[in-house]
Amino acid sequence: MRITGLKCAVIGDNPVVRVLTDEGLSGFAQVESYKPYLRWHVLHYERFILGEDPTDVERVMLKIRRRGAFKPWGSAVSAIEIALWDLAGKAAGLPVHKLLGGKVRDRVRVYNGAVRFPMNGLAPEDYAENTARMAASPEGFTIVKQGVAFHSQVPRSMPGFFYGDPVTGGHGDYGYGPITEQGMRYLVDCVSAMKGALPAGVGLALDCGPGWTVPDALRFARAVEDHHLLWLEDMLAGDYTPFAGADLYAQVTGHTATPVHTGEQIYLRHGFKELIERRAVDIIGPDPCDVGGLAELKWVAEHAHLHGIAMAPHGTGDGLLGLAALVQVCAALPQNFIAFEYPVGSPSWWYDIVEGLPSPIVRDGFIDVWDRPGLGVEIVPDAARPYLAPEDLDFFD
Ligand SMILES: [Mg+2]
Repeated sequence: MRITGLKCAVIGDNPVVRVLTDEGLSGFAQVESYKPYLRWHVLHYERFILGEDPTDVERVMLKIRRRGAFKPWGSAVSAIEIALWDLAGKAAGLPVHKLLGGKVRDRVRVYNGAVRFPMNGLAPEDYAENTARMAASPEGFTIVKQGVAFHSQVPRSMPGFFYGDPVTGGHGDYGYGPITEQGMRYLVDCVSAMKGALPAGVGLALDCGPGWTVPDALRFARAVEDHHLLWLEDMLAGDYTPFAGADLYAQVTGHTATPVHTGEQIYLRHGFKELIERRAVDIIGPDPCDVGGLAELKWVAEHAHLHGIAMAPHGTGDGLLGLAALVQVCAALPQNFIAFEYPVGSPSWWYDIVEGLPSPIVRDGFIDVWDRPGLGVEIVPDAARPYLAPEDLDFFD
């Protein structure tokens, strides 16, 4: 089998990748919904992979992997890798998890970072109400992740929160600087309120930044130790920082009982090397649609396990094909897997244009791993065609 073409259509907000072959089989994958601007970036890789055997996934990836980088510039490479696994699975008549080593678990735990509701305000009771609502959604999530501090409206909406100026109007609002004493008390109060509002059996994780100084990160992690948080994410680096920050994280992790998490922006195993080998964090969260794909994520997970580091992969914007990819790879991860971040289809008509997802998708906070070939979730061309942009009308031809 040979690759004869590479297409990319922006369906809704997600760039969708299609790898075509001379045997009529195609592989599909998706880029995060926040990145519709990457269509050209996907397409520019076509010339490097034409004529290759798509089932030799690693050999194809050697042609393009060097032309990627930290978020958002690893997304196109990652989506092509995932589409190759979809193709290889379909060609073999096997689910992708079998090609990655097989099922370690029959169902995968997901956490809620995407089934969200608008905040009524920023007071601790607003956080409590909102977080309880996220836990009460019918998926039965056992872990909920809430955004706080620099990963929220607080730096620009709450004067006196920190000694610095919020950066607005760029790619997302953010900030950096020491948090004031009242700002720190407020954050701890928010944690207490959220924990008080969550039912027993639902754990809380916090997406925190980046933007913290090392002393504040340590001070906060220690102040909330009694609340048994699952993790504090991206305090010092992460999200869209073009670096991993292992030297900074190493000054916090190991000095507090609260687990420290980062890594959604990181590209390739090499980006994780120092974080893992220095044990600079307790948990890492590579996103298959940014790290370089499924085999790359599996390799990172094995290396992390060897060093006592756990896995909670990122995925909030990965869409429904991204959800399928996460289910396939997380079924095959070692025992350091905790849960992945459950992506929702957006706009909601995405649920009408794919087939293969279970109904309901999530039961008691878990997704049963399916065994259909490839990713096991397909876009239905006739259903999807009305949503194609004029320049993409030949996407399914
Ligand atoms: Mg995050």
